[in-house]
Amino acid sequence: MSATSAKRIIFLGPPGAGKGTIASMLSHELGIPQVSTGDLFRSAVAKETALGKKAKGYMDRGELVPDQVTIDLLKECMQEPKCKQGFILDGFPRTVIQADALAVSGIDIDRVVSFTVPEQELLQRLVGRMTCRKCGAIYHVSNLPPKIPGKCDRDGGELYQREDQKPEAIKKRLQVYKEQTAPLITYYRKKGILVEIDGIGIPKEVLKRVHAAIS
Ligand code: AMP
Repeated sequence: MSATSAKRIIFLGPPGAGKGTIASMLSHELGIPQVSTGDLFRSAVAKETALGKKAKGYMDRGELVPDQVTIDLLKECMQEPKCKQGFILDGFPRTVIQADALAVSGIDIDRVVSFTVPEQELLQRLVGRMTCRKCGAIYHVSNLPPKIPGKCDRDGGELYQREDQKPEAIKKRLQVYKEQTAPLITYYRKKGILVEIDGIGIPKEVLKRVHAAIS
């Protein structure tokens, strides 16, 4: 990895594009945190905090949590010392309002990596996902099946379909992406920091394209 690589990175892309998987791999390689607003919200929901109670209904329906709630959460997270050397924003911003808030808060971004995956492929990846009740690991009925049906390979936890993994919510999430998040592609292209990559292929191949995009 070259020393001149971008370290303040946004991953942009529809649900099912593989942002989370690649962000986790890159985070380990570069030693910078993966900041996933989706994970932060899910953890708040699991702990039944005030934030979690606010976010749950929106998440279950596949809608976005209101901008101000999300912006406050992100800013708080970005104050942590671990974010000072760089970060990968995975799932933020998702609206122009969020992107503007990031810009005015003085958090500079070096590169926005936009993952392109055709809708047919997204649907194939999203339908059939299951989550472990204990550890949150995600499986897929055909792409990544567990060794024993219905049980997590790591801890034997029960696998279930989260509300937002059900067909109605999946449809909604894709629609919300098109209407509210996809405009950010043009937004960041105009700023001259956008790189589009093909999100098809095994994670190792996609990661290689991301490396090229941030170097
Ligand atoms: P994700 O795992 O990134 O797909 O996020 C799961 C859910 O959390 C989304 O469907 C939204 O309800 C909520 N969420 C995550 N990030 C954001 C964001 N930047 N703005 C609004 N809602 C978000």
